[in-house]
Amino acid sequence: MNIDDYKELKKGGMMRQKEAGRFSVRLHIVGGDLSAEQLRAICDAAEKFGRGTVHLTARQGVEIPNVPTESLAAVKEFLGTTGVGVGVCGPTVRTVTACQGCRVCPSGVIDAPELALAVDREFYGQPVPHKFKVGISGCANNCLKAEENDIGIKGWIEPRWGGKACTFCGICAAVCPSKAIEVSPDQAVVSVSLAGCIGCGDCIESCPTRAMGEGNRGYRLYAGGKFGRVPLLGRKILRILCSPEEVMAAVRSVIEFYRAEGRSRERFGDTLMRTGFPALDSRITERIAESS
Ligand code: SF4
Ligand code: SF4
Ligand code: SF4
Repeated sequence: MNIDDYKELKKGGMMRQKEAGRFSVRLHIVGGDLSAEQLRAICDAAEKFGRGTVHLTARQGVEIPNVPTESLAAVKEFLGTTGVGVGVCGPTVRTVTACQGCRVCPSGVIDAPELALAVDREFYGQPVPHKFKVGISGCANNCLKAEENDIGIKGWIEPRWGGKACTFCGICAAVCPSKAIEVSPDQAVVSVSLAGCIGCGDCIESCPTRAMGEGNRGYRLYAGGKFGRVPLLGRKILRILCSPEEVMAAVRSVIEFYRAEGRSRERFGDTLMRTGFPALDSRITERIAESS
């Protein structure tokens, strides 16, 4: 491993420490998921090549600190044999974060880990103008903070009112966190404003007669979020995405847009401030139409 080319080392997940001659080795983790076997291998690597500690990063990452320069090639090789890859840094698509989604969490609407794997398979480590982060929350509770990411995704559930069983008790309107439900004064109809609905499903859960039922499940996409020195919250793409295929087409078009419009070392949120958000929105709509 050529220590003289630090840029290349960093790109490959080997971060120089303050202490001379020591590196923190970033690992390739998807959606915070690791098998017990992989965890054992990481512990072994930390003891064999570091000082027996690991560091958990803010974005579900794992790093092995205190690896001496002369062991960098060996730690990479050792981890490679156990199915744990070394991570990336620099202007690339970074770790895709995700919660456990609908397979584990009772509130989950979408399979967040499966989607994280699909995004990771196609884009992890791919070059872009600056670091680029993707975070996936399985439902509107948004534990993975979608809006903090260059692309954020949240599960979404559509409430659908079926009049017959409704007693016009008003519980659905009372529990709605975004005031998207109205019971008409003559108690003839309950209307849901899908523009205001955040897809949390609370009205469906709390309806005592099941008159408020479940419609489609989908995906809400946010673009241009970041944290760090100058934080920006990601903005909502107008369209609800209906399938993992549509999500992947949208992610592809966002990355294509960033590569075409972004300047070197410019975060995606700042690119969007220059280009305006509608340009991205219409590119996504076009690409989804082409892919369907
Ligand atoms: S975002 Fe939703 S699905 Fe994911 S962990 Fe939080 S509550 Fe569960
Ligand atoms: S909670 Fe159910 S029964 Fe009550 S007003 Fe809403 S839809 Fe009708
Ligand atoms: S799903 Fe949530 S946000 Fe949407 S109407 Fe029901 S309670 Fe309101």
